[in-house]
Amino acid sequence: MRFDFASDNTAGMCPEARQALLEADQGHIPSYGNDEWTQRASDAIRRLFEKECEVFFVFNGTAANSLALASLCQSYHSVICHELAHVETDECGAPEFFSNGTKLLLASGEQGKLHPPEVERLVKKRTDIHYPKPKTLTITQSTECGTVYSLAELEELRDLARSLGLKIHMDGARFANACAGLDESPGRIVGSAGVDVLSLGGCKMGMALGEAVVFFNLDLAEDFAYRCKQAGQLASKMRYLTAPWVGMLTEGNWLRHARHANGMARRLGDGLKELGIEVLYPVQSNAVFVTLGDAKIEKLRSAGWAFYQFIGTGGARFVCPWNTSQQAVDDLLRAIRSLSN
Ligand SMILES: *Cc1c(COP(=O)(O)O)cnc(C)c1O
Repeated sequence: MRFDFASDNTAGMCPEARQALLEADQGHIPSYGNDEWTQRASDAIRRLFEKECEVFFVFNGTAANSLALASLCQSYHSVICHELAHVETDECGAPEFFSNGTKLLLASGEQGKLHPPEVERLVKKRTDIHYPKPKTLTITQSTECGTVYSLAELEELRDLARSLGLKIHMDGARFANACAGLDESPGRIVGSAGVDVLSLGGCKMGMALGEAVVFFNLDLAEDFAYRCKQAGQLASKMRYLTAPWVGMLTEGNWLRHARHANGMARRLGDGLKELGIEVLYPVQSNAVFVTLGDAKIEKLRSAGWAFYQFIGTGGARFVCPWNTSQQAVDDLLRAIRSLSN
């Protein structure tokens, strides 16, 4: 089986992350984050956003999202998310669990993006004591459909959220791909979205594991360290989680890899269109969604290609991780072309 396009997570560590990990693997170093690597990683993230922020490191995206949301909500609150959001579809109820029952309210919207009038409708639908009080809006950038919100779209959501008294969380599991796709700086993106708390993806960017939770609203970070510890997210040998961030964020390595991944997805998307295959969403990050039909899906699998089908029958998702080769893209296109013959 070839897993080149199955997920960002089939790819290994990028060289810069691995190098930093090896450098951190020496001698005796303070534990639980009281070390120089963790300090350097936090500082690198602060420089990346050119903003004051509080930074925490956790093992995965589910923990980052659910603990971030728990810090924004009480148990009687609700979070508005897109109906395809990872927090709703792929976290096994962790956001509800870690917030002791905060409810997710699902908003629809084209191309994986929240439709502002739909957000407003969900908030204003009820104001009585029997409805879980809407408190937070969570925005995925880039989205689960591989699209990217423009700065104008983020500003519209931000202004709406503020007018409705909602806090703003961003699920940035693929934030790097969004920066590359928009060709905008991290600081401008979180600024346009008015992000209070960001789940910043490390794993899909090319690290072995680990995500950062970044608080731009500093008050909300109070006690977050305890929340992480209680949830089993405080790494004792924290340096192994944080050193790779230093490698990734040096000399724009993260952005170079994300640009490459997005470029490979564009090449794949263009190639598929040339083959007459329907590409479902604009290719704005590192994922391509297509309608292939059950017969072709079956044949492509038998030909040895692994990929996910999320979106009902006949749809397939191809993701280009940081180390996708042009050769692999062309191999896949050739395999798909041969299905029609
Ligand atoms: C991958 C992903 C995550 C994190 O998933 P984990 O498996 O928990 O690390 C979060 N949000 C989105 C949109 C993702 O694609």
